[in-house]
Amino acid sequence: MNSALETLRRDFGGDIIEPGGAEYESASRSVLAAGSPAYVLRPKSVADVQAGVRFAADAGLLLSVRGGGHGFAGFGTNDDGVVIDLSNLANVQIVDDERHLVRIGGGANWGQVAAVLAPRGLAISSGDTKSVGVGGLTLTGGIGWKVRKYGLALDSVVAAEVVTADGEVVPASAEENPELFWAIRGGGGNFGIVTAFEFEAHPTTDIFYGKIAFPASETASVLQGWADYLRTAPEELTSIANFANPFAGGPEAPVEIQVAFDGDDPELAAAAIDPIRRLGTVIDDDVALKPYADTLVDGVTPPPGIQLVTRSAFVDKESVSEVLQILAEVGASERSPFIAVRSVGGAVSRVPDDATAYAHRPAELMFVTTTAGPGPVVEAARPALDAIWQRLAPHVDGAYANFLASATEEDVAAIYPRQTYKRLAAVKRQYDPGNLFAHNHNVRPQ
Ligand SMILES: Cc1cc2nc3c(=O)[nH]c(=O)nc-3n(C[C@H](O)[C@H](O)[C@H](O)COP(=O)(O)OP(=O)(O)OC[C@H]3O[C@@H](n4cnc5c(N)ncnc54)[C@H](O)[C@@H]3O)c2cc1C
Repeated sequence: MNSALETLRRDFGGDIIEPGGAEYESASRSVLAAGSPAYVLRPKSVADVQAGVRFAADAGLLLSVRGGGHGFAGFGTNDDGVVIDLSNLANVQIVDDERHLVRIGGGANWGQVAAVLAPRGLAISSGDTKSVGVGGLTLTGGIGWKVRKYGLALDSVVAAEVVTADGEVVPASAEENPELFWAIRGGGGNFGIVTAFEFEAHPTTDIFYGKIAFPASETASVLQGWADYLRTAPEELTSIANFANPFAGGPEAPVEIQVAFDGDDPELAAAAIDPIRRLGTVIDDDVALKPYADTLVDGVTPPPGIQLVTRSAFVDKESVSEVLQILAEVGASERSPFIAVRSVGGAVSRVPDDATAYAHRPAELMFVTTTAGPGPVVEAARPALDAIWQRLAPHVDGAYANFLASATEEDVAAIYPRQTYKRLAAVKRQYDPGNLFAHNHNVRPQ
């Protein structure tokens, strides 16, 4: 341990933050989880990342990797181990104007990406929040406001630079180390630290974006009509249905349909969005033309002690009606979690199943339940939440790792179906046989 630490102090050019240090209190926690790591390392270069990885391996310490720090499962920190916090590796640079290729540091967040791309009329479909990290979101999916037209965030990745468990820098693309490239597009942080991604961005105009709200009493019919319509809606339209929001009245809260139409033609936008307006009694409608970058919201850091428990699942076409019926009933009950249902399909479903390690291409919808509050409140809500998920279980499929606060064996099996897991484990054996990158929805080398 002592010699590993000496080597780190010699080779590491970034910040080493230890308990008692001035920055330790804020550096020890990720956005959604508290921790007490022995070392928080903030690399300033790829060589620093290599030194940090070698230190964790040599010292035999648990390693957490932190991108934007928004992971619900709290993998961005730990107790007594090492955190490699990538926030200084946040450079965003357009490297090929014609092909719209953008190189993005593994610790950048989507607000930093939008700030560089927006003035050039470019965008990458990512998520809905500025402070969410490019790393965590992309490595397991990325369901953003242009997902039906351009696919997941990981579908726009064309190459990556990865520091693997032995501290080597390994390029990954369709041409170089293609199995590693396959694995990091869906397999999360299991294979190494991505120090840079190369994305192909897409041109964007301003887009029509906003929410259309209906009374809570219309939730069931609005949801069914919404899902039916999305099957034939233009792929420029991406949408999320939110209801049972505990901060807006719980079971009395309006059902809010957020829409994003990728284009600035008012007639095309109205043609795409009006069928949603006709689903019920509109009580609020703030859809307006906005720069794409302005549709991304600022993330909120919950006060200390507040927990956020998210669970997610996918819904295939044949189960949509049943699942939405159950969710509407759940949402109308007093102790409902907050429910958000996201449209996927479109470009996501056109990518062949085996092209990336993201294993949920055929799904039409992905939904998330969120329970928030102090620990005892979240605990007290758990039996009711379990009962809801037991009722849903026969009708839903898999889980979306990015909205999963737990990491049980069942969770990992839900994220990675058997064939995907088998192929991921083979890649893991090659690049991380000792399972150094284990603090995640873990794929074991054996
Ligand atoms: C407010 C909020 C809004 C969200 N909105 C969306 C959304 O619209 N769409 C969506 O798809 N998801 C969304 N998410 C989920 C989000 O994608 C996940 O929480 C994701 O894990 C966050 O990534 P991060 O880098 O910020 O988190 P971190 O906690 O830093 O990272 C999570 C894990 O990813 C791995 N990781 C991160 N960066 C790297 C890297 N460079 N190299 C290797 N491994 C790395 C590590 O294992 C790390 O522990 C949202 C989450 C929040 C909290």
